[in-house]
Amino acid sequence: MSDSLLYIVSTPIGNLGDMTPRAIEVLRQVDVIAAEDTRHSKRLMNHFGIATPLIPCHDHNERHQAEMIVRRMQAGETVALISDAGTPLISDPGFYLVRSVREAGFRVVPVPGACAFVAALSVSGLPTDRFYFEGFLPAKGAGRRKRIEALAAFSSTWGVYESPHRIMDLMEDLSAVLGDGRYITLAREITKTFETVIAGTVSEVQAVLASDSNQQRGEFVVLVEGYKEEESSEISPEIEKMLQRLMDDLPIKKAASVVADLTGVRKKVLYELGLKLKSDE
Ligand code: SAM
Repeated sequence: MSDSLLYIVSTPIGNLGDMTPRAIEVLRQVDVIAAEDTRHSKRLMNHFGIATPLIPCHDHNERHQAEMIVRRMQAGETVALISDAGTPLISDPGFYLVRSVREAGFRVVPVPGACAFVAALSVSGLPTDRFYFEGFLPAKGAGRRKRIEALAAFSSTWGVYESPHRIMDLMEDLSAVLGDGRYITLAREITKTFETVIAGTVSEVQAVLASDSNQQRGEFVVLVEGYKEEESSEISPEIEKMLQRLMDDLPIKKAASVVADLTGVRKKVLYELGLKLKSDE
């Protein structure tokens, strides 16, 4: 493995205060910075007094640039990759470059920082033990609905990036596919002046956006609660009687399991009721 490195450097998603000291240091020290949009990144570099030369690396030239960057690294140069905002490769270019650089035997080093999806997830109030990141949905039409239908069956929290001109269409699609039972969290303009986090059912969030067109502006992360099997804990007198009767012939655990299968009431709830009925006898 050679000494040359490729750093994957996260930059802010709005608030420049989120630029890390390590990101500034690395960007100052590397020989060259590959940037998604060099004009856009030049402003950020000027703000932080980073004079390192920028070269373009975006969706349309990444393969060609990857070869060139590997050659520069073979000649001993150290390189950093940045995107327009947040963490490179997260709905941003860089996958092909990282693959090529790794295959050429060089180390790729992360310099972590802001990522809109993770920031949104952390304030969403939705479960974070498992989650799925979809990135951008297909822009429109049947493909988009079909993808949402597939995501609707996921049991973990999931989320998408969305642009302002499609946010109301996304709400329509979510409402059509998910109905109104599902909770969503919409995180808009994270770390910026008009940062807003709206949580509620699809129709509640849709109503907030519809009532104020300012809420339809800016950048969005939309997070959706995972699908949950209907877990009823309602116990009618008939169900209690059924459990009581089965417990005459079966152990409590088995009786609770049979009643759960027949009624949809959670086994744990029935088991606890069984224990209580037994102790009341
Ligand atoms: N690489 C970036 C990251 O780490 O989050 C994402 C780049 S992707 C091309 C841009 C999308 O990310 C936007 O369309 C929006 O959905 C989301 N996004 C970026 N900045 C955001 C912010 N400040 N607030 C909400 N969403 C943001």
